Amino acid sequence: MIIKKRNKTELDQYEALLSRMRPEHPKFREVESDYARRKKGYIGERQVDYYLEDLAPEMTILQDLNLSVEGKNMQLDNLLISQYAAYIVEVKNFTGSITFDTELQQFTRDDSTQEKGFRHPIQQAELQKQRLQAWLQEMNLPPIPIYYFIAISDPSTIIRVEGNKEEIAKVVAHAAHIPNKIKQHEDRGSNQQPIQHQKLGHFLMQAARKREYKLMRNYEIRPEDILPGVRCPGCGYLGMRRLYGKWLCPKCKMISKEAHKRAIYDYLFLIQPTISNRECRRHLNISSKNIATKLLKKELVYDKTKRSWKNR
Ligand SMILES: [Zn+2]
Repeated sequence: MIIKKRNKTELDQYEALLSRMRPEHPKFREVESDYARRKKGYIGERQVDYYLEDLAPEMTILQDLNLSVEGKNMQLDNLLISQYAAYIVEVKNFTGSITFDTELQQFTRDDSTQEKGFRHPIQQAELQKQRLQAWLQEMNLPPIPIYYFIAISDPSTIIRVEGNKEEIAKVVAHAAHIPNKIKQHEDRGSNQQPIQHQKLGHFLMQAARKREYKLMRNYEIRPEDILPGVRCPGCGYLGMRRLYGKWLCPKCKMISKEAHKRAIYDYLFLIQPTISNRECRRHLNISSKNIATKLLKKELVYDKTKRSWKNR
């Protein structure tokens, strides 16, 4: 059973942010390229999910798990737990060819324009395994066998090994082969006490940290840098006008009744979790207090103490 699903909140926030930044903003290019990279990573992770989810009937699966171990943050792309063992599956997305050098403990990628070194994925996974063991100990849970795998998400990535091929093949494979590798381990530990994997999974989930995405703060983008306005769902123009209870696009003449919703949620998503009447009027480019109240009332609830509106 998949008890924790991967979400794309971070990508959604990037999209909202990019749609409301001036392209001339000094941070725009950086935000844009980080977004492209994360999006590629997310697509790779979903490709791997597709194969791992086949194991869901007999295992407990947690996707994108964040734990605090010995005061440090640990993030796992995938954790699968069966009655025999726990499996960490880290996802790597590379274009071109990758080389594991077992003698030099080196990991490089060659995308035909340049060769570049990266942190060694196996050392990283080994560290995660140790941290997960430490976490179980911290929680006074019995130790369990933990294995790790590196899933190469793009089937066209060429995997090369310099040195001991077998050593690498034990833990590295294209995503489609990972379920089989996991199953090979399943037959072995059958003489131990079965792990209550669902129970452990729920325990892990409760301990998991909710990830908070504070993109504006991370990039030092100020609320004033966020462009106000209602975006036209037809042509994308930012600056629809309120006219007789509807929104009119001055560019393509499209009429919408709902276009303000996206703008209100962008505000809550990016700037702060509450919005006052004044902030709403500024953000939607309207002058009437009553109209702002009417629009806010339909989407949000009023918090009297803060004199602001927030999500239900
Ligand atoms: Zn338009």
